[in-house]
Amino acid sequence: MIIVFMGPPGAGKGTQAQILQENLRIPKLSTGDMLRAAIAAGSEVGKVAEELMKNGNLVPDEVVVGIIKERISQQDCANGFILDGFPRTINQAQALDKMLKDNNLIVDKVICLELDAEIIVARQAGRRVAPKSGCVYHLEHNPPKVAGKCDVSGEELMQRDDDKADVVRHRLGIYDNTVKPILEYYDEQGLLNKVAGDQTVDQVKQQIMSIIEQK
Ligand code: ADP
Ligand code: AMP
Repeated sequence: MIIVFMGPPGAGKGTQAQILQENLRIPKLSTGDMLRAAIAAGSEVGKVAEELMKNGNLVPDEVVVGIIKERISQQDCANGFILDGFPRTINQAQALDKMLKDNNLIVDKVICLELDAEIIVARQAGRRVAPKSGCVYHLEHNPPKVAGKCDVSGEELMQRDDDKADVVRHRLGIYDNTVKPILEYYDEQGLLNKVAGDQTVDQVKQQIMSIIEQK
């Protein structure tokens, strides 16, 4: 099963993709996490991405398409995968379909989490992330068991550079400008499912599970 998560930054994609990864036992592929790892490793991709990400701008299509292409060829993706944060442009959506088609695969479900801008800015301020495990927490809504530490890896939690309110607003503007054609593209194929993101993590999860279970 190949599942695409869409929705504005902070809508809860990473949180839900992590839960789904555990339930379905297929990996969550977050281009944001991969790019942050590339920056930490000081790779060529990391050098291209660093300044763009810090300012909330998109990394060029060819860079993210290349990362995804390489990642989905790995063995752990053989039974499917969950895309979190990709595609973010219509070019990326078309490139994804092409690489899947070359392997006789298709996108099975697209889940778009919807959330208002004001809630998003508040959520991002409280977001804390664990870079190694990829787990996401919120100081109030989804705190770790031990303050400041990841439940899974025990690593120190961090605040992302691009979670400052002004950068979040800029990222939201980019999302609004690029998302429409992608949603139309998936809607025309009958793949699009919208879920209200202003519910508890568990309520959102239940709705996603019922979408996944539908034929
Ligand atoms: P995205 O991957 O879409 O950017 P995240 O999954 O990182 O979003 O969620 C953004 C922040 O909101 C995180 O701090 C997360 O813990 C919190 N969060 C996620 N889902 C919910 C929810 N349903 N209710 C309240 N807070 C949530
Ligand atoms: P995310 O972790 O999904 O919020 O992404 C963080 C940042 O990584 C974005 O603001 C972009 O700078 C970059 N990024 C992640 N995924 C993509 C993508 N598919 N296309 C372009 N840039 C991306």
